[in-house]
Amino acid sequence: MPLRALLVAVCLACAGQCEAAATAASAASASAPAATLRARIAELEHEGDSRPRQAADALATLLLDTVPFGDERLEGLVVRGLLLASASEPEAADQVAQSLEEWARTRDSNAAAAAALLVRARALAQRGNLQKADALLSEAMARLPVGATPLMRLRYLQAHAKIKDDSGKLEDAARLLHEALTLADQVGAAWLRAEVRASLAYVFFEAKQLERANHLNAEALEIASRAQDFTAMGRVHNVQGILLDASGDTEGERREMQAAIGYARRGGAKSDESLYLANLADFYLKSGQYRTALTLSEQVLPLARELKDVGGETVALANIGLAHISMNKLELGKRYVDEAIQIDERRGSSTGVSATLAELGHYLEKAGDIAGAVTALHRHRQIADEILQRDQQKAIVELQERFDAERRAKDLALLNRENDLKSEQLRQRDLQQRLWWMLAAAFALSLVLLTLLYRRVRRSNRALESTNHQLLVQSERDPLTGLANRRHFQAAMKQLAADGKLSGTVFLIDIDHFKRINDAHGHSAGDTVLAEMARRLRETLREQDLIVRWGGEEFLVVVRTLPPEQVEALARRMLGAMAGTPVRYDRGAMEVTGSIGYATFPIEPTLLAVSWERAINLVDTAMYLAKAHGRNRAYGVRLLHARDETQLDEITRSLEGAWNEGQVALTLLQGPTSDMAVAA
Ligand code: GH3
Ligand code: MG
Ligand code: MG
Repeated sequence: MPLRALLVAVCLACAGQCEAAATAASAASASAPAATLRARIAELEHEGDSRPRQAADALATLLLDTVPFGDERLEGLVVRGLLLASASEPEAADQVAQSLEEWARTRDSNAAAAAALLVRARALAQRGNLQKADALLSEAMARLPVGATPLMRLRYLQAHAKIKDDSGKLEDAARLLHEALTLADQVGAAWLRAEVRASLAYVFFEAKQLERANHLNAEALEIASRAQDFTAMGRVHNVQGILLDASGDTEGERREMQAAIGYARRGGAKSDESLYLANLADFYLKSGQYRTALTLSEQVLPLARELKDVGGETVALANIGLAHISMNKLELGKRYVDEAIQIDERRGSSTGVSATLAELGHYLEKAGDIAGAVTALHRHRQIADEILQRDQQKAIVELQERFDAERRAKDLALLNRENDLKSEQLRQRDLQQRLWWMLAAAFALSLVLLTLLYRRVRRSNRALESTNHQLLVQSERDPLTGLANRRHFQAAMKQLAADGKLSGTVFLIDIDHFKRINDAHGHSAGDTVLAEMARRLRETLREQDLIVRWGGEEFLVVVRTLPPEQVEALARRMLGAMAGTPVRYDRGAMEVTGSIGYATFPIEPTLLAVSWERAINLVDTAMYLAKAHGRNRAYGVRLLHARDETQLDEITRSLEGAWNEGQVALTLLQGPTSDMAVAA
């Protein structure tokens, strides 16, 4: 399982007055002065950063002392609602939201209405409904009164940033966290200033901007250490571990992870601890220390279950399974991994299922279970395709919802102020601009919406036409390599293979041990290799051939049907183009090789016509055999005796066996050996 980071504590507070975290419920009487109550709420909010459940309980008691419909009561309810959501108690958080809604209705209060939306959004996000949570938070932000305190505004910003980050909208998350950072500095609490910085550093890491990430996290570390805030220090060290992993410093990564665990323990932050332990187990798994990975994951599992941390539970289960598989207990291992997959399936996390299947495939391959590996990787591929299609549909719905939510939000914000004619004009212009931006996003995400919105915008702005065209091009191009992307391929296949059957020669190319390149030379060197491989493939192929960046370090090539000798020559040329000369980058040169699977369709001798999905499954399996037999080689399917698609599926599943039994004839081509590469 990949590393996970805990992003953004959702509850924050304390204008600097609360360095000591007292646990007991407030002893304040009904006549407690407002300032005392506020300070106490802030203290509990800080405490809730590590122990949300306990702090939420203490807040419930404290709330009894507040005046009905007073500012302190509102503040206390907001903090309690957020803490309950953090403690995986969405139902209890919903109850808080309900009482806030009631308040908003009876007192016609915008502040309470906004607070209710904030708490609802957090509870929804906790249940995994990020899309709806995002829309609610946009509305909440608009309803938040202009005079809200920096601390109150900060709560909204952090909650929203977390949702944006979880849904992969990194730019939005970064924008919100930037704003949060200014407010946190204004509020002045050290733990808060440190954690917002660490969160922003993590977003930059995800956006592959390592330099900025490092800079911010170093600042965070300094602030948290000076304040001796253990929970904040744990978060900063965890992010530091992830950053060191990205720059290939394995020893540093392990050290930071250990430190993060230690601080989480000292701060009493149980769910942080569980997460960091899972990260550490993942680290040992990656570095081949399976026994340690197993022991650690077995510790994480009950902890995650106790904390109702489903994410942690699936990571632990998958890691236990992968460790067993690596120690040759294949059947036992598969059962654990299956359990993890089933949980992800039940909660609708297809990205989780897809990632686990990919890992399962790699570990099974390493353990020598090639048939199992191929099955896992095919399932992975299928789900990855489904995700792509589903995401497109979701993008459309989401876009419309966002537009509606934002329009509503704008209306409300304007009603809150006094809107004269001028602001009405401004609003119109603003909405048009918004629409344009969303349209730009739509291009990147979905082409279906194009015609629908395009007409509306054209009326308001004709000058956009050429830009739109550019965006259209971009959306089907992979920005790193300039090659067509998967989306383009799917669209092209719909047109080319009118009957759904593929005609032509298909090559699937995968760079060998690419992870090692990233690990040894850094991610940006990896990017250089990808761009260079794309360039070499383009140079080797012709204009009319279709070259697709199929996955991270995989390329798919489709050329018109060629005679067998030419197909073979082309496969050789591609192997040579990839491995012939080392790839240069600013700090030296890297040896790169690739593995290829290929076949021509309809397939000889039965000339069975197949769908492009099946065609790719077959060449993928052939590529897999090339990997399993040593890499830097190509395996081509020359003959395959299948009368129908069911038979083809069976043969694909056990290609190597079918080859041994003579149902399949394969061509094997060796890539340039490293002596040749040096000589070249
Ligand atoms: P194999 O020989 O079995 O193919 O091993 P591998 O290491 O090439 O394969 P694996 O699938 O384990 O690793 C692929 C790696 O590619 C993992 C991922 O971090 C990296 N990757 C994916 N996309 C990108 C990218 O855009 N840039 C960089 N630098 N790395 C990427
Ligand atoms: Mg790969
Ligand atoms: Mg690879």
